Amino acid sequence: MPRFRMVIQSVAATIHASMKLFSPALALFVSMMTAMSAAEKPDAQLATVRKILREVPLIDGHNDVPWQYRKRKASFDEVDLAGDTTKLHPPMVTDLARLRAGGVGGQFWSVYIPTSYTNAAGIQAVLEQIDVTHRMIARYPETFELALTADDVVRIHRQGKIASLIGMEGGHSIGNSLAAVRMTYRLGARYLTLTHTANTDWADAVGDTPRHHGLTPFGEEVVREMNRLGMLVDLSHVTHETMRATLKVTRAPVIFSHSSAYELCRHERNVPDDVLRTVKTNGGVVMVCFLPGYTVERERADMMARDVERKRLEGQFGEDVKEVGAGLAEWRKLHPEPAPCSFVDVADHMDHIRKVAGIDHLGIGADYEGFHGPPIGLEDVSKYPNLLAELLRRGYSEMDLKKIAGLNVLRVLREAERVAAQSQHAAPVK
Ligand SMILES: [Zn+2]
Repeated sequence: MPRFRMVIQSVAATIHASMKLFSPALALFVSMMTAMSAAEKPDAQLATVRKILREVPLIDGHNDVPWQYRKRKASFDEVDLAGDTTKLHPPMVTDLARLRAGGVGGQFWSVYIPTSYTNAAGIQAVLEQIDVTHRMIARYPETFELALTADDVVRIHRQGKIASLIGMEGGHSIGNSLAAVRMTYRLGARYLTLTHTANTDWADAVGDTPRHHGLTPFGEEVVREMNRLGMLVDLSHVTHETMRATLKVTRAPVIFSHSSAYELCRHERNVPDDVLRTVKTNGGVVMVCFLPGYTVERERADMMARDVERKRLEGQFGEDVKEVGAGLAEWRKLHPEPAPCSFVDVADHMDHIRKVAGIDHLGIGADYEGFHGPPIGLEDVSKYPNLLAELLRRGYSEMDLKKIAGLNVLRVLREAERVAAQSQHAAPVK
């Protein structure tokens, strides 16, 4: 839309030129306008990005589509990814056409269950979510194919399809059973996030009161068994202490399937610089998240204040979704939404992680379908090229982009496979 872009640019330029006092609010406005204008721009960088994504798969670390089926109690006909999912209520940001438009070549589909599901109920829910993911992949055989290894990902991408991997979100999914780790691996799970938002009996989660201050001896056994199998250890959601403790134990590189830089946005979910440096030594990868509350401080403050209010309302009204929703709407009237962030802010996280950990330790883990209100220019799964084009504008090379898009994660998968192959003869831990 060139006319729209020209209008935006000229408005931004006029304000820029005419204002003598350049306030922070105005700076924010101008940067938003610039971001909107760049996001719309069909420039040479976008053409380069598209070429790169034909050569190397863009592998996203976290997408919650499988949970959408459960949450909406929807069949595959009701949530048909071959259709236009913007028409659903509420709309979704993922469908086949937009995955294609975004150049997605590999996707870790998240097998997520709430932390209220524990032990047998948790394992049942996990099996059901793995089942949904397999059936979703089978439903669109021309687009998806299950990937179990790095070689699978490369082969499936070469065939013009989207390599579909399974990642389990939350250590509560294994019900304190190493057998469950082994069996979910056999069902295709290739990463386990050690916690979600509540502590497990063996690892601490951001959002809970620290209990173990790292990993318990059983938590160390879980990590060692994952190494032995070749299941990636995912440190998104765990506390900084648990990140550090895990990095001491693991023999394979770790991933952060959807996390950003703590230095730029002080949400404890994000990765602090000392851990980024250890990730460099470990050979792992931080897959940068698009969630605004992990991206800029003003969004984080808003998200945390809203969460406090939601918890207060839940204490008052229990499970009554209507009352809680009405209460939050009232709260919002008194607490206006902060100015949105954009793909430019997400690119800043890439810059920071690159500076501290290096280009070999960067990836993408948008967390689509897991949050609402995405950054400008990253509204849905068709928008990844906007971010990569921005990195080209910042001087990243084509090889740098290939690494971020997928080569780094493929290297981590291969290394985890190598560690597993070396330890197959070791007896199972328990
Ligand atoms: Zn998450």
